[in-house]
Amino acid sequence: MKLLEQRILTNGKVLPGGVLKIDSFLNHQMDPMLMMEMAKELKRLYADAGVNKILTIEASGIAIAIMAGYEFGCPVVFAKKSKTKNISDNVYSVEVESFTHGKVNTVVVSKEFVNPGDRILIVDDFLATGAALIGLKALVEQAGATVVGAGIAVEKVFQGGGNLLREQGMRVESLAMIASMDDNSLTFC
Ligand code: 5GP
Repeated sequence: MKLLEQRILTNGKVLPGGVLKIDSFLNHQMDPMLMMEMAKELKRLYADAGVNKILTIEASGIAIAIMAGYEFGCPVVFAKKSKTKNISDNVYSVEVESFTHGKVNTVVVSKEFVNPGDRILIVDDFLATGAALIGLKALVEQAGATVVGAGIAVEKVFQGGGNLLREQGMRVESLAMIASMDDNSLTFC
């Protein structure tokens, strides 16, 4: 998606460790007009997939997910990073290693909000190693629901997660796909 690529080139900052900072339009200050265009593109890509629910993970996936939910006309559920080890029976849970924080979170979603028969589009801001997406997929499968695919804002292709998941049969659509990046250059696929 050219609009997003242009914005990354203009406002993105490459940090050490393969991290892209897009705090000025997606991860801290947010640009709803850009996000609405991204949501429309996700709707176009998954128009015929029978999506009835969107799932994301807190916190940075929520904004784009809610815009997508508006476009699809469906509810948006966000998986929570649980603060307690005392997990109730009423949740599905999975361990997910955070790429940016380097720690393992227990991620939970209420059984009330993900149901057998749901056709779920997973939405997130970034795809790097694929850990978040693999975790969210596992939550959906615990519920007996179906992942129709993933809609990602920025995929860092060089970190391998997207292609790993595609090889496993998951449909993954990313609006900007970064082939490589360093302090001086950033190249899209
Ligand atoms: P993965 O689990 O695929 O390794 O990483 C995806 C998650 O880590 C996303 O939910 C996102 O919040 C975070 N993340 C991964 N890479 C980046 C990055 O370059 N910049 C930012 N801001 N977040 C990232």
